[in-house]
Amino acid sequence: MAKEYQHLFFDLDHTLWDFEKNSKQALLELYDSYAWESILNLPVDEFLQSYYQKNEEMWALYRANKIDKATLRHRRFAETFAIYNYQHDDKVANFEKDYIHLAPQKTALFPGCMAMLQSLYANFSMHIITNGFEETQHIKLAKSGLSPFFDKIITSDKIGVNKPEAKIFVEAMRQAGADRKNSLMIGDSLLADIIGARNVGIDQVFFNPHSNQHQEKVSFEIKALDELPGLLL
Ligand SMILES: [Mg+2]
Repeated sequence: MAKEYQHLFFDLDHTLWDFEKNSKQALLELYDSYAWESILNLPVDEFLQSYYQKNEEMWALYRANKIDKATLRHRRFAETFAIYNYQHDDKVANFEKDYIHLAPQKTALFPGCMAMLQSLYANFSMHIITNGFEETQHIKLAKSGLSPFFDKIITSDKIGVNKPEAKIFVEAMRQAGADRKNSLMIGDSLLADIIGARNVGIDQVFFNPHSNQHQEKVSFEIKALDELPGLLL
């Protein structure tokens, strides 16, 4: 690699921390402990399918600034249960609260994550730039054993804007004492991570585990995290 990178900025969800696996694990456990299968007469797989669809809809509204995070959190569950004519607000609210509490405690990481971080740790300053709540993201990092690897943890919650807005990258570099030339952003989202970083002049590594087709010009692309040391060392 021609450039001398010193600062690696990683996205967290869907890049290091396996959001889908962890979220599903939490939902499966809670679906069971709330006995929804018998209450709703609904197999968990069907529930999950409806929930994921509703969750996507709500995130789309959130990204378009049409609803806030609290509304997103409430409506994705309330409206999923409403599909099955279940409108017991208190119980749904408790389920949602338990999910928000439990999911970040889950510890599944993408394959090769730990080994990759261990091999890069001595040579780079590593940081996180994540769209998420301050408290939630810190719990994920601590529980999954990621915290010790990272110097600065930058959350959109604290900065007040989400990736891909320039401000969050600029603020991350400022806190890290980095500049755009010696920085590299690694993430799974073309819009938030890759285009966001590119717009402020930071090189990018697109983590694309499912080999999704795209037309964006990216500095580097990897399919698995264990390719990263080979690129950088
Ligand atoms: Mg991500």
